[in-house]
Amino acid sequence: MEWQDNMSSGKAVLVVEDNELNLRLFCDLLTAHGYGAEPVRDGRDVMARAAAIKPDLIIMDIQLPHVSGMDLIAALKADPQLSATPILAVTAYAGRDDEQRIRDAGAEAYISKPISVIRFIEAVSRLV
Ligand code: MN
Repeated sequence: MEWQDNMSSGKAVLVVEDNELNLRLFCDLLTAHGYGAEPVRDGRDVMARAAAIKPDLIIMDIQLPHVSGMDLIAALKADPQLSATPILAVTAYAGRDDEQRIRDAGAEAYISKPISVIRFIEAVSRLV
């Protein structure tokens, strides 16, 4: 049935977030809007998962245990296989310096937590 085809954009979004509630919120919002959502809870898995899935977009929490989301953005942008993949950074601290540092690391866009559902989906649809 055609309406079912229209439910899915076929676009895959890698969601890097260590907070389980935020992870579930982001993934639910994405799937409700027809995206495929691939959760990654441990930042140390990001490079391998991104290489395997080749997502259309990466949503990146900045504050992660073990690794910095900022360093992960830089590593993704330094990888020739992944550098073209847009990155939407998500972080709780929202100073202007932080936003500039996130953009300098290579993220295409940035939203602050707590997220606005509308802004979140708008940011995703602009990037994918
Ligand atoms: Mn976090």
